[in-house]
Amino acid sequence: RIHQRHKECRDDIDTLSPCFLSVYESLIPVKEEKAKQNELLQSLQKSVDKEWPNAQLHLYGSCANTFGFSNSDIDICLAIDDSNMSRNEMLLKVAEILQSDNLQNVQALTNARVPIVKMMDPKTGISCDICINNHFAMANTKLLKDYAQIDDRLHQLAFIVKHWARSRAINETYRGTLSSYAYVLMCIHFLQLRKPAILPCLQEMEATYVLTVDDTECAYFDQVVKLKNFGAQNKESITELLWAFFHYWAYHHDYTSDVISVRTGSIISKKLKDWTRRVGNDRHLICIEDPFETSHDLGRIVDKHSIKILREEFERAADILQYDSNPSVTLFKPYMQ
Ligand code: ATP
Ligand code: MG
Repeated sequence: RIHQRHKECRDDIDTLSPCFLSVYESLIPVKEEKAKQNELLQSLQKSVDKEWPNAQLHLYGSCANTFGFSNSDIDICLAIDDSNMSRNEMLLKVAEILQSDNLQNVQALTNARVPIVKMMDPKTGISCDICINNHFAMANTKLLKDYAQIDDRLHQLAFIVKHWARSRAINETYRGTLSSYAYVLMCIHFLQLRKPAILPCLQEMEATYVLTVDDTECAYFDQVVKLKNFGAQNKESITELLWAFFHYWAYHHDYTSDVISVRTGSIISKKLKDWTRRVGNDRHLICIEDPFETSHDLGRIVDKHSIKILREEFERAADILQYDSNPSVTLFKPYMQ
């Protein structure tokens, strides 16, 4: 393979923006979908109220962080304070309640990394996962949502990157590629590092939002309406950014020593985090620090086979943006197994 390191993108790159923006627009869910999700949330809340009148259901993940596509599954967190029951007992109880309220395919997965109850609502056709007291997920959902309000280019970039990752079958954590959450963090970090910066580092600013989870403070500046013009100095178009994003991950990121960190808005070193060698199943071949659970590398599921696939996909994408005659189609060509 010839590794091409380009510093400059093609001259006509901005003429591609309308095509990419129409791809982006086609991915945004219609308003009715939000209404359907809320309707389901309310009916589930009623079911749960019967057993636990003080428990609250919250949406999290892509249906709440604004980075969700049409027809995506929804993630729900049950916030409950019940010291008489273990988490698994609660999950089994939730499953029992939902089953008796006629939800379909109800399944409690008590051994998963994040234990959940899965089910499908026959009325709306929506599938959903319910977890219990996952407060970090609530905090990182809000963080992503707040970043999205600062500059539209984050939303556009992240949607296109997620769509690309899905089309290329590299958004599958069970097969060693990256989660949607990881891709969105990569986009945020990339925009924090543009010159001039397109996004600030909210966790380095005065904390106006604080949620303490276990012993960890999740704190950052959340008055994002005040930051609406933050990225205005930077005039880069969505296609220039897309080009630079893929080029960064294809040809410039230092996979042997660097960790990307949204928390600090900078690159930090693997040495500093002690992520230089494999520990158990965590290989640290691509390092993405979780903004709140900082000992958590979102790239840890990537193995020596899937890192190769990922890097080849970054190179493919970079080369398509550089040379292809119709990048907004070729980029998303489904990967055939
Ligand atoms: P999708 O549209 O693909 O469903 P999503 O944003 O819901 O995207 P998921 O990967 O389903 O992404 O994750 C749902 C939520 O769970 C994330 O938004 C995040 O809050 C949390 N989460 C997911 N993976 C991790 C992880 N490895 N560590 C911590 N939190 C995570
Ligand atoms: Mg999800």
